[in-house]
Order: sequence, then structure tokens, then C-alpha cells
Amino acid sequence: MPMTQIDAGVHEGVKLDQAAYARIESTFEGELIRPGDPSYEEHRKIWNGSIDRFPALIARCRGVPDVIAAVELGRETDLPVAVRGGGHSFPGLSVCDDGIVIDLGLMNAVHVDPEARVARAQAGVRLGELDRATQAFGLAVPAGIVTTTGLAGLTLGGGIGWLMRKYGLTIDQLLSVDLVTAAGEFVKASESENADLFWGVRGGGGNFGIVTEFEFRLNSLGPIVLAGPIYWPMEDSPAVLRFYRDWIADMPDELTTIVIHRKAPPLPAVPAEMHGRPVVSVAVCYAGPIEEGEKVVRPLREFGSPLLDLCAPKPFVDLQSMFDVSFPPGYWYYFRSCDVAELTDEIIDITAEHALRLESPLTAFPIFQLGGAVGRVGEGDTVFNGRRAGHTFNINATTETSERFDEEREWARTLWSALAPYHTSVYANFLMDEGEERTRQAYGAEKHDRLRALKRKYDPENFFRLNQNISPTQ
Ligand SMILES: Cc1cc2nc3c(=O)[nH]c(=O)nc-3n(C[C@H](O)[C@H](O)[C@H](O)COP(=O)(O)OP(=O)(O)OC[C@H]3O[C@@H](n4cnc5c(N)ncnc54)[C@H](O)[C@@H]3O)c2cc1C
Repeated sequence: MPMTQIDAGVHEGVKLDQAAYARIESTFEGELIRPGDPSYEEHRKIWNGSIDRFPALIARCRGVPDVIAAVELGRETDLPVAVRGGGHSFPGLSVCDDGIVIDLGLMNAVHVDPEARVARAQAGVRLGELDRATQAFGLAVPAGIVTTTGLAGLTLGGGIGWLMRKYGLTIDQLLSVDLVTAAGEFVKASESENADLFWGVRGGGGNFGIVTEFEFRLNSLGPIVLAGPIYWPMEDSPAVLRFYRDWIADMPDELTTIVIHRKAPPLPAVPAEMHGRPVVSVAVCYAGPIEEGEKVVRPLREFGSPLLDLCAPKPFVDLQSMFDVSFPPGYWYYFRSCDVAELTDEIIDITAEHALRLESPLTAFPIFQLGGAVGRVGEGDTVFNGRRAGHTFNINATTETSERFDEEREWARTLWSALAPYHTSVYANFLMDEGEERTRQAYGAEKHDRLRALKRKYDPENFFRLNQNISPTQ
């Protein structure tokens, strides 16, 4: 067995109390993994390779009783507790040093009822697993754009993606959750049961407890959709984005688009002469009849001189996995994010100018188009903030290892700062570890106060604090 950093003595971690461990071990159905165990290295790692932490225990739960037992262990030992759905938190909130990771990855069942048009998904489900199960019936839950992302963390923060302008955010199709509280109680929340808690979990993250299962309303989709990216040289970005802004001004809800600036990746679909060339692309998904979509998308594909047009009818599940290769686990990632009201000339020029300066061949930063169904839900109806925003910038800096990470991170910060005069809101799931003042900004003062009151009710001791934290006391 290769030596771990623990073996090598790099990390002198807290040891779990033996008696407490023996108690949980006697009933736990899932896997309990401690430093030195063969799979410890695999399971302590999360998606963002720049996060390197050493928990005292990873409790891989198989069901609700395991989750309750792990919460009780956390209370008994007073160790920090991190909760993990898919492990895709940008700042690494789902792993901690010297604490307990409650990992839900083994709880990954999906049950689809096509008659009732309802899906139940356990908290360890990844987006790709949910899509595969629902698309078998031509149905879908609107969610994110990379299949490996955890459904749990994504849903608890809101959930933006290809279907949002047609069917809203992931939380807009959420019917109920099952949840284990900090006191170890199992409760349900929906519009008719614990409605305050149901409001809180629609954007408030993991502050109020551990969701063990989600129930979603399903909507018709595809399974074939018109989708894919169209690429132009990055130098054309100011013109492409001005055209794009005017073109999307009057678009049906079926169309959702994402603008991406990056160096063209060496993928089979991209001709060799384009590899590494700075490009701007507009990726589209038309969630409606293909012929209608073709008409809607035509002006975009005819604009200027595209280098490559990969927009074509394809299974929705293929579209969903399109970005997977661009965001593999283990690379070093850093993010800054903001919403803007619209793509003004100033914002376009700042974006285009900074995009030309990005160095890493791995950095690919999306600008999501909001609007449509997202904006038709009342701001106060859910915790998610920024429903009236026009676009969400997800400025990331990506390198394969620590090499050149600092420089690329600086690039991301500089672009974000240059956009500061135009920031409106920020999506909580796109925050790094930026402190509670920033979380307050993300939710807005009014919702933050309401969230704090809810936190006092469901988690007065801030047991669940490794998240975009709402402190019960301040
Ligand atoms: C490659 C990639 C692509 C992404 N694309 C999108 C996108 O298209 N749209 C979008 O909206 N977001 C997207 N995101 C952001 C994503 O929504 C967040 O990173 C989200 O937190 C991931 O959820 P997770 O379960 O994988 O994360 P985790 O790291 O497991 O958890 C994130 C947070 O949620 C809490 N949590 C997790 N599970 C539970 C649970 N069952 N109960 C209570 N709390 C829990 C954790 O404690 C932690 O605070 C993307 C992220 C990545 C890395």
C-alpha cells in the first residue's frame, strides 16, 4: 500500500474517541473510514484538487439510520462535521480537518413515477444519474450542466442549468425533502408540512439539516434537443457579445444559452488547428421542437465568421455530459462569481479584454443567461436571490496542479474586481469561503434575517456550520 501523508507523519490529526467509535460501529450499515484505511485517500479527496484536508472519520451512510447515528456521533464528540453530497463544493465545504465527514454517496437511488410525473432521489445522487433515470421516460428535472455534480448541494443552493428558462431552477420543481436535524430528528418539509423549513432548504444550503431524499415534479423534455456550442475567435468577442445581447432580448423560454471564453480544448470534435486557440462560444439548448429551435438559432449561427458550429440535434443526456471533460476532478480550481443585470457595452468590453489575457489552457469561464421561468417566481418565495438578474458570471481559474495556480487565480480576481461596479447579486453555490458578510450579501439583508431566525429554530448551536453559514447568533 502506498504511504499516505498520515503515515508519513505530515498530518498529526485528532484521533476519534475509541468508545464513541465502537458505539457507532456496532450499528452502522455503511462504511466507516479512518486515517490509514486503504480507501481513506480516495474518500477524503473532493472534486477541487486544491483542497487537501484530513478528517478523523468518513462515515459513508447507507440510509437514514446511519445519518442519524453520524449526527449523534458528531454531537457526542464535539468534532466539526462536514456533510457531503457529490463533493463538488468549490471551496471544499464537504471535507474538514480533524472532524467527521458525513458522506451520502452510497445513498444514490432514484425512483421515477412517470404516471404521477414525480421523481424521488436520495441525497448521494449525481446529476447524470437523475437525468438517465428521468430521460428514460422523456422527463426531466432542471439542474446543472456537469453530470458528476451532486444533486444535493446543487439543489440546496438553487440549481441553474440548461432548462431553467423553461422550467425554472431545480428548487422550483422541488416538492418535498426528508431531512435529519441537528438534534438527530427525522422530519419532512414541503409546502404543507414544516413550510418554514421548506422555504429555507430552497436556497439556504445545508444550514438546517441533512437532506436524505428529495422529491421533484417532472416535466416533459426531448429526449432529443437542439443543442451545442458555436465558436468564434476570441478577438471577435466584443462583436459576438453585442450581437448575442440583442439576439437574446426577445427569446422564447425554450432557449437557454451560456457564453464561454477559453482556449479551444483538444477534443475530437474540435479540429486540430483550433486546439489552444482563444475562442468565445455561445452554447445553446432549445427545450422544444427541433424545427422551432433551428429557426430560433439560425441568426446566431449566421453571425460573423464562426470557426466551428457544433449545435445539432442530440440526446439531452449527451448535452449534459458535454462539459464533463472540461471540469475533471483533481484539477486546481478557484472561482469568483457575480450576477449582472444585463450585458452592457462596458461589461462586454471588460469581459472581452480580460478573456484575452487568460493563460491557462484549462480555464473555461461560463456566463449563464437567466430570465424566463427563473424570473417569474417571487424573490421572497424561495431563499435563492437574484431571480431578476440577467446573467451569472462564473469566473474560474483552473490549472492541473499548483503550478501557475496563483497567477491564474489573480487573473480571475482581477476580472471579478473590474466587474464590481456592475455586480447585482451572487449565487450562493458559486461562492468560495468568503465569510458571513458575503453570505449576507448573497441572500440580501431581509432574507438573511429570516434565515437566521430559522437557523435558531432548527440548529441553534450551529452544528451544521461547514456551509455558506448563517450564524444563529450574530
Ligand atoms: C464541475 C461543476 C459544475 C457545476 N455546475 C453547476 C451548474 O451547472 N449549476 C449550478 O447551479 N451549480 C453548479 N455547480 C455548483 C454546485 O451547485 C455546487 O458546487 C454544489 O454545492 C455541489 O453540490 P455537491 O453535493 O456536489 O457538493 P458537496 O461538496 O457535497 O456539498 C456542498 C455543500 O452542500 C452541503 N450538502 C451537501 N449535501 C447535503 C445534504 N444532503 N444535506 C445538507 N447539506 C448538504 C455540504 O455540506 C456543503 O456545504 C457546479 C459545480 C462544479 C464543481
